[in-house]
Amino acid sequence: MIVSARPDLGPPPRLGYAASPIDRVAARRGDAAAMQKFCEHEHAGVYVIGGEFVVLKALGKQGEPLFTPAEARALGPVRDSVFLGLIEDAPRFGFGLEAQAIESLKTRDDLKITDLRSIAVHGIVGPQHLPPLAEAKALVGWHARHRFCSNCGAPTKVEQAGWRRDCSSCGAEHFPRTDPVVIMLVIAGERAVLGRSRRFAPTMWSCLAGFAEPGETIEEAVRREVLEEAGIACGRVKYFGSQPWPFPSSIMIGCHAEALSENLVIDRAELEDARWFSREELALMLKRQHPQGLTAPPPVAIAHHIVRSFVEDGGDVLR
Ligand SMILES: [Zn+2]
Repeated sequence: MIVSARPDLGPPPRLGYAASPIDRVAARRGDAAAMQKFCEHEHAGVYVIGGEFVVLKALGKQGEPLFTPAEARALGPVRDSVFLGLIEDAPRFGFGLEAQAIESLKTRDDLKITDLRSIAVHGIVGPQHLPPLAEAKALVGWHARHRFCSNCGAPTKVEQAGWRRDCSSCGAEHFPRTDPVVIMLVIAGERAVLGRSRRFAPTMWSCLAGFAEPGETIEEAVRREVLEEAGIACGRVKYFGSQPWPFPSSIMIGCHAEALSENLVIDRAELEDARWFSREELALMLKRQHPQGLTAPPPVAIAHHIVRSFVEDGGDVLR
């Protein structure tokens, strides 16, 4: 029997948006006096969001994401303000600006306006800023889309420092939503399935993924999505890890799944293509050394880590 050596892929890279340094101190959110003090704190810092964009102070190729509350207010009218929590004793907030205000800021040389995916992929800010930026973007985006009560249609107002919206008419309380997405690597022996969406860069292949539906367990969602998109029945499903994915408000739930069949029947409405890859080929894609230039997702994405663990550990990931 040939036992594959564990390939050396170097030290594990950091997963984007995860491992937040923020203490959310949720019990303080309803305390208006505490919030006022946090706002006036000498080390208070604000992340500034507008739609898909993040406003940074330009520092060459890098960017500084923290503004003082006064600096942030000077950028334009603040549509939403949310309290993210504390880093050590320093309060952190997210401010949401109108899209028009963001457009006018794009002409300023002292600012860098870019999207959160680019910030993560290109390392434009220190990695410790990615989790609070993700928290701010998801929460500010939720406010932008939930001005009105989904129960009766009346306007809602912000409570709990940005963590609830209450209906002024029927009294319903609305909480920020997080949408679960299962993302999985389907495995048979030394091979695994990756697929391509039409939205991907031409060389990129990634794990299959889809939203978990009401009334499903994570394992059931994995099996259903794989059967729908690739026609493969799955048996064992093992949880790998998760990642906040604020586009706009998901959590990616990473899994490995055991294929019970290997014949692919691709749903072309969902996927441009899908195929089996050997562990060796996947290792080359992770290292960006594939002879045809095929690539796996970058280390900021959980798909990279799901694939990497299979390349390193093979079928043991299903144990
Ligand atoms: Zn209502």
